[in-house]
Amino acid sequence: MTAAQLLVVGTPIGNLGDLSPRAQQVLGEVGLIACEDTRRTGSLLAKMGIDNPGMVVVNEHTETRAVEAVIAALMVGKSVALVSDAGMPAISDPGARIVAAAASAGHEVVAVPGPTAVSSAIALSGFTATRWGFEGFLPRKGSDRSRHLALLAEETRMLVFYEAPHRIERTLEDLAGVLGRSRRCIVARELTKMHESVWRGLLGDAAVAASEPRGEYVIVVDQGEPPPPATDDDLAKAVASAQARGLSTRDAASEVATAFGVGRRRVYELANSSDR
Ligand code: SAM
Repeated sequence: MTAAQLLVVGTPIGNLGDLSPRAQQVLGEVGLIACEDTRRTGSLLAKMGIDNPGMVVVNEHTETRAVEAVIAALMVGKSVALVSDAGMPAISDPGARIVAAAASAGHEVVAVPGPTAVSSAIALSGFTATRWGFEGFLPRKGSDRSRHLALLAEETRMLVFYEAPHRIERTLEDLAGVLGRSRRCIVARELTKMHESVWRGLLGDAAVAASEPRGEYVIVVDQGEPPPPATDDDLAKAVASAQARGLSTRDAASEVATAFGVGRRRVYELANSSDR
């Protein structure tokens, strides 16, 4: 008999046909399901003709208590499925603490992969970048949001954002402000559902994609231009400013070389020649 496992199960992000045969089998065999919302998961089980083995609710308020129930089930040999309302658990959804606790208690944790909005939107984007950053939901307001947006200004990787309909327009405007109006993007809405649509264009024009905000959205922003290579003048100024903070020439050169991603020797030689 295989030991009890925690199975991290992907569920549909819209189209029920996307529940994999393996996910159906797992949900029908486990001794407990850890889910975000019992009504939502109960309805999925009912539609699939799967008996409810018992559920424990995992959300930001209950996750600590749910950990205990999940570990207790695993200890007595019951396998547990972890699901969220839609997509992969722990992707902008609860579940990470359950996974971490089960793994650190020595239980086997396995993936039963399923749909997720992030990878679906990237695949639909047509952008060829091989590196990307998943941003999920931006902080909603205040200084958290402005600080986070300011950090993004330096990002040249492809970026993926989740957004709710009532904030999509504002978020597209803010992203155009920090990442540039000419950066390519897609706005993918209601993936796998009846009103699925993908708007393609530039961030500066993307507000039209939010003209009738309804449903669930993913924004994918293409990679940006890398910053121009540092000139000797840029490096010399940065060294002078580090020295003005009290750093030795050697330490200043080392700090600047790391910050600009250039060779330490080049910066050190520049620093020495300007000291003369
Ligand atoms: N765990 C999910 C996943 O794997 O994608 C994400 C859950 S998060 C709470 C919900 C957000 O995911 C939505 O606000 C939206 O940004 C995105 N999303 C989920 N389903 C989607 C869909 N069918 N079409 C577009 N975006 C979707």
